[in-house]
Amino acid sequence: MSTSHLDRVFTNPTSRGRRREHMGLLTEATRRAGSYVANSPHRPVYPSPEAVAALDAFRTPLPDGPREPRDVLRELDEVGSPATAVLNDGRYFGFVTGGTVPVASAASVLAGAWDQNVGGGSPVGEAIDQVACQWVVEALGLPSQSVAAFNGGATVANLTAIIAGRDALYSRLGWSVADRGLAGAPALRVVVGDEVHASALKALRLAGFGESQIERVPTDHKGAIRADAFPTDTDDRTLVLLQAGNVNTGASDPFTEIIPGVRECGGWVHVDGAFGLWAAASETRRHLVAGVEEADSWATDAHKWLSVPYDSGIVIVRDGADLHRAMSGDAAYINFDESAPMNRGIQISQRARAVETWAMLATHGKSGLAALIDRHCSLAQRFATALADAGAEILAPVALNQVLVAFGDEAETVATIAAIQADGTCWAGTTVWQGRRAMRVSVSDVATTADDVDASVNAMLAAWRSVRADTSAATAPVVNTR
Ligand SMILES: *Cc1c(COP(=O)(O)O)cnc(C)c1O
Repeated sequence: MSTSHLDRVFTNPTSRGRRREHMGLLTEATRRAGSYVANSPHRPVYPSPEAVAALDAFRTPLPDGPREPRDVLRELDEVGSPATAVLNDGRYFGFVTGGTVPVASAASVLAGAWDQNVGGGSPVGEAIDQVACQWVVEALGLPSQSVAAFNGGATVANLTAIIAGRDALYSRLGWSVADRGLAGAPALRVVVGDEVHASALKALRLAGFGESQIERVPTDHKGAIRADAFPTDTDDRTLVLLQAGNVNTGASDPFTEIIPGVRECGGWVHVDGAFGLWAAASETRRHLVAGVEEADSWATDAHKWLSVPYDSGIVIVRDGADLHRAMSGDAAYINFDESAPMNRGIQISQRARAVETWAMLATHGKSGLAALIDRHCSLAQRFATALADAGAEILAPVALNQVLVAFGDEAETVATIAAIQADGTCWAGTTVWQGRRAMRVSVSDVATTADDVDASVNAMLAAWRSVRADTSAATAPVVNTR
């Protein structure tokens, strides 16, 4: 019987054979990854129904025994790669997903080989985490003493900040959540905008706030809170959630008009800036989020506009003591260092995800980051202008990198989006904006060029023409939820 890879790996775990096996597999995976990238332009931006159907090849019972890793990698590539949405080649405009900068994707390969656990025992993981957190705070123009932490995404970042704010408000009221829990605690008041992101509502629910406790403030035609409708009687039991970057329009709430008043009365202001907060990194767009630095806490994503791989959110809290009060795990665990990542967030064990953000910022610097933000904003404007020139309706002013489009009436819009998605030149999803169905275009992939925008506009207009020629062509499009 020939030796299986498990024999090769396990009979002598320190052997050269084990290392050779590992090196060979990493090289093979990297080769396949490189060829995936090389072939991206030849794939439809959203996979064909045939490629999706072929995923059935994965749906087998758990194997009885070992298989060659190389065969498993080949299957992953041959069956999996054709069924990917191509997020990294410039023509995917769904959600606000972003496409990675090459260096961040490459750094994640190296960090994967490192296999570090930033939850404990990784000097390099902790060092890079700390530097990347500082760089992010600086890039966003937030108060320099703020404490940041990486996590899985803006939803987790929102949750972390909401818990920190909740516990800080309670602490000032003389109620320790750590000692007494929430049952019987004085009620807090939660104020959000009508256009609050679903992620923030989910985070509120996870933090113990139900729908009936949440007050909604009306928003304007851009999707920003109307300052004149904001309650004037907020107090030291008020938790306010504002938004930098409405997911549909990119508009931000009027921070300068709201934040100082809430904080003067002892309330807590959290800002969900999953993508929009990055406007602060550009000299020419910073005014769009003016005053955001006055808040108590912020949530953002690195995996959206900062263009690093997924599973990368960041929470930032003005006063580190508020974050540590809520997140410190040292009662149960052995790391008493307040600055350790596990004492700044929900997770204990975690991969060294900050490596990707560090690599992105190290290669771009402040000016490179600003140029990326500016370029996406102008490409979004290019989309809006070209589509409007052709008769499509742009439903809200383009504030950042998001464009909202309607093609004729509701039925025609829905059918046109479906036709665009089926065509495969580009991909954009649908959303509902102030009661109307619309297509939302998010320019957040570093690979996107003016040519990509022009080719995508042409494909969109061709799809619209085909729908007008044959109004029975509609199938249900995929709805944007993020
Ligand atoms: C995307 C988004 C979120 C959720 O972020 P995840 O990284 O998907 O958890 C929250 N708020 C806003 C405004 C967003 O655009």
